[in-house]
Amino acid sequence: MYILIINCGSSSVKAAVINSQNGNRPIELQIERVHQQPIVSINDQQSQCPEAGHEAALKYALPLLQKKLKELDIAIHGVGHRVVHGGKQFDRPVIITPEVEQTIQQVSNLAPLHNPVNLIGIHVAQSIFGDLQHIAVFDTSFHQTMPKRAYTYALPKDLREKHDLRRYGFHGTSHHYVADLAAKYLQTDLKSLRIITCHLGNGASVAAVEYGRSVETSMGLTPLEGLVMGTRSGDVDPGVLIHIAKEENISIEELDVLLNKKSGLAGLSDVGNDLRDIIDKAADGNEDCRLAIQVFAHRLRKYIGAYAAVMGGVDAIVFTGGIGEHSSVIRHRAAQRLDFLGALINEDKNHDVRLSAAVPVVDFSMNHSRVKLLAIQTNEELAIAKDAVRLIEHKNEVNTLPTIPIAVSARHIHLTQEAVEALFGKGYQLTVKAPLSQPNQFACNERVTIVGPKRNIEKVRVLGPTRPKCQLEISRTDEFALGIDAPVRASGKVENTPGIKLIGPAGEYMLQEGVICAWRHIHMTPDDARIFGVEDKDIVDVQVSAGSRPLTFGNVLVRVSPKYKLEMHIDTDEANAAELPMYSKGVLYKTDGTATLITKKIKH
Ligand code: ADP
Repeated sequence: MYILIINCGSSSVKAAVINSQNGNRPIELQIERVHQQPIVSINDQQSQCPEAGHEAALKYALPLLQKKLKELDIAIHGVGHRVVHGGKQFDRPVIITPEVEQTIQQVSNLAPLHNPVNLIGIHVAQSIFGDLQHIAVFDTSFHQTMPKRAYTYALPKDLREKHDLRRYGFHGTSHHYVADLAAKYLQTDLKSLRIITCHLGNGASVAAVEYGRSVETSMGLTPLEGLVMGTRSGDVDPGVLIHIAKEENISIEELDVLLNKKSGLAGLSDVGNDLRDIIDKAADGNEDCRLAIQVFAHRLRKYIGAYAAVMGGVDAIVFTGGIGEHSSVIRHRAAQRLDFLGALINEDKNHDVRLSAAVPVVDFSMNHSRVKLLAIQTNEELAIAKDAVRLIEHKNEVNTLPTIPIAVSARHIHLTQEAVEALFGKGYQLTVKAPLSQPNQFACNERVTIVGPKRNIEKVRVLGPTRPKCQLEISRTDEFALGIDAPVRASGKVENTPGIKLIGPAGEYMLQEGVICAWRHIHMTPDDARIFGVEDKDIVDVQVSAGSRPLTFGNVLVRVSPKYKLEMHIDTDEANAAELPMYSKGVLYKTDGTATLITKKIKH
């Protein structure tokens, strides 16, 4: 399918007709100097638009593109629009409806330079390509999976809530696309990898992509936070702004220009925002340019180290965007001496990286490097085209969805035989109190006391049979009662989790690791998985009609095994919050793992 992709920037517009399978682009359109005298280029033909402004320029340029389509005998199947800010409302691409437009308008105050022009792009394109589906793909949506602890600013609650102040993150389409390509290149499921993606263009950001989902990213409410960029400062002490506003007596508008347009590489080097020039001048002895490179690379390294800590390790570090793809100097400065993380750079390979559509991924780490260092050519337009095609193909399908029983699991512990003997006596065997719904699982008569740094929780039920590893599954409420930090994990994933002391009637046992908040999940058999159109480790949404309102549990992990019985497990906190009755049922909505809505046709 051919899709028209439109990317309306604040002062320029880029569009392309793209083949969603192979990424070929028979038509490319650019509009420069939108606010002065717009110059329109379609492939190699240039012309001047008589009127300035986004609307006039698009009304002039899109019919030219339409003419070109006829000339080349190409039919397009849909239009994909890059929209900068989706706020907290959009966690995936969507087909544009009047309601969607309204919501994009509502979040415009979070991106005043971008969302309004994105909307102009949508309106003009709809007036010209009215018979096609239009799709919005948001820069922010991939990062909507960030946990609260990562996206919350330590500012007063009332202000945060009133203005939706939180970290959103940007460049999501690119981070997702290169993480996907990295996984394909490594021939490993994205859901099994921890990847740090560094998108280094004029704007620059880093993301921590843990098992396929963004859990941290360096940009915040706006694209100003984080790395040093072409003309943006990235992180500065907010106190600096208060200080210079007082000392220089400058207005908010001037501050905005200072931080967004005059800082970053341009502000540091005083020779502009193009890193190529800065690198050349640094080699000629320009001290400001040398400092610019050092500050840029230092900040990047700092984020890489921080994100490895956030994920408790890393399997691949990806460099993309104009700088990440082309600058061996920056890749070297960011990736050398990362041996402690398990990343060993191969300097020859780094020097020889040449990316192209035919070779979009190059590994520049040593063969024996545990962490792979990858340079990857990003292609946001192709990613948007693929999202658009997925949505168009599934638009007309009707859902007839079977339901899933929901079970509430109270805190419990799985023990090894060694732990059982330490707690209950040598040679002790667990005794069955009652069978559980999952085949061969049972609740035991035995209970243990959990000793947290803050307080103890007594009579925690042991579940049998014994396992090769201990695992204590608690709720958020328990976590704070005990005074520990338990990560949300799938059952069985206990590496890098905290340990805790257990007390039984016969003695104590020190759990070295294994305390988790269980990731809400669905057990199903391979047959169920086929019916629901999902696979093991997929992430889905489950909608329940409970209490007074319908409620969606997002981020539900699918576990598939012939040994399972169809059932969703949530913890007591979640059940209470949702006011769920004893026996509830949910309806599964499939997402494609991270960002794309797929409504599957499911046969009973
Ligand atoms: P945008 O964010 O506008 O899409 P790009 O991803 O195209 O930008 O990145 C543009 C940046 O890439 C420019 O600032 C340029 O300095 C940098 N760049 C491109 N090639 C090189 C290179 N060989 N060495 C260093 N920097 C480069």
